[in-house]
Amino acid sequence: SASSFGGGDATIGGSGKRVPVGLKKPSKRVVVTGGAGFVGSHLVDKLLARGDSVIVIDNFFTGRKENVVHHFGNPRFELIRHDVVEPILLEVDEIYHLACPASPTNVMGTLNMLGLAKRIGARFLLTSTSEVYGDPLEHPQKETYWGHVNPIGVRSCYDEGKRTAETLTMDYHRGAEVEVRIARIFNTYGPRMCLDDGRVVSNFVAQALRKEPMTVYGDGKQTRSFQYVSDLVDGLVALMEGEHMGPFNMGNPGEFTMLELAEVVKEVVDPSATIEFRPNTADDPHMRKPDISKAKEQLNWEPKVTLREGLPRMVTDFSKRILSAEK
Ligand code: NAD
Ligand code: UDP
Ligand code: UDP
Repeated sequence: SASSFGGGDATIGGSGKRVPVGLKKPSKRVVVTGGAGFVGSHLVDKLLARGDSVIVIDNFFTGRKENVVHHFGNPRFELIRHDVVEPILLEVDEIYHLACPASPTNVMGTLNMLGLAKRIGARFLLTSTSEVYGDPLEHPQKETYWGHVNPIGVRSCYDEGKRTAETLTMDYHRGAEVEVRIARIFNTYGPRMCLDDGRVVSNFVAQALRKEPMTVYGDGKQTRSFQYVSDLVDGLVALMEGEHMGPFNMGNPGEFTMLELAEVVKEVVDPSATIEFRPNTADDPHMRKPDISKAKEQLNWEPKVTLREGLPRMVTDFSKRILSAEK
């Protein structure tokens, strides 16, 4: 259904003659759950910039009001403090479902957002994760791979929660004809990332800026692929608006060992930065790298920003935040 926001007539030039906006696409009403978080807030920036009306639902569990405060006062922006574990009634065209702590509430929140999508006929996009592949036995990972996940390990709550969320999403598609989209997101970094959530890029950057040693877990030879947040946001919007439901891998195929990542952070932040080895966590995936041929072919999407280009942009944001917090 078309949106009731925006559109209509516009006056151009000084002639005072009213002309229809015509070919301009109607703006949409969009919900972004988790929109005050790292990825969500960048997505909100993009949707508002192109004229959509955006409702953010966030309980500020890991997100921050500062991430979206620059939109306060914009009549097309609304922020609702709400836990998606509780049902909610809204009228929108699209739901980007990002809200997710690493716990079973992930499943309850997804169920509610699917119920909402079903009732109002909105399109639903789930931000799933590369963790559904577990400690993969196939490398690089294609979407057809079913994964290698320990159901009872310390990481299982997140992994299995997202696997269940994917299952629910497909059940609502098959059973209730909800139009759905699934993105499997690989490690993403950029400005506004949580400072102390323990992810490797945020840890290394914050440690190097604070003149502390970078903590490398295990032997540091495990690999990951790091995607810059603007590439991901472009991919999510292309997926929401394309004809294919996925799942689609969304990640940067560049692959780095943690030791190599520490080297890049050293180059960018501080040539005198040091590293320190720590024991690794259980069930840590040994390697991870997306095969993105499906997204390239069906969504015409691929990442553009390399780690060496993206990292300095994150460092600028982190150094500002660390300075102001530690003043
Ligand atoms: P984030 O923690 O910055 O954002 C999540 C947001 O959801 C936060 O603002 C948080 O307050 C909110 N939230 C959590 N539980 C909620 C609840 N019950 N009700 C309402 N709001 C709630 O994380 P992010 O990195 O921006 O991740 C966004 C999505 O992308 C998540 O679904 C995550 O699983 C997925 N993902 C991210 C990455 C990555 O590398 N960043 C990788 C794979 C998947
Ligand atoms: N739901 C919601 N908003 C809505 C519609 C549904 O939050 O506008 C919730 C609803 O409370 C339920 C879940 O989504 O917990 C699943 O809804 P559905 O209608 O699919 O399931 P049912 O209520 O029939 O079990
Ligand atoms: N890691 C590390 N030092 C840190 C934090 C993480 O060496 O300070 C390693 C971790 O063991 C894992 C990799 O970096 O092998 C990526 O961890 P992260 O938590 O960022 O992402 P995920 O494991 O979910 O891919």
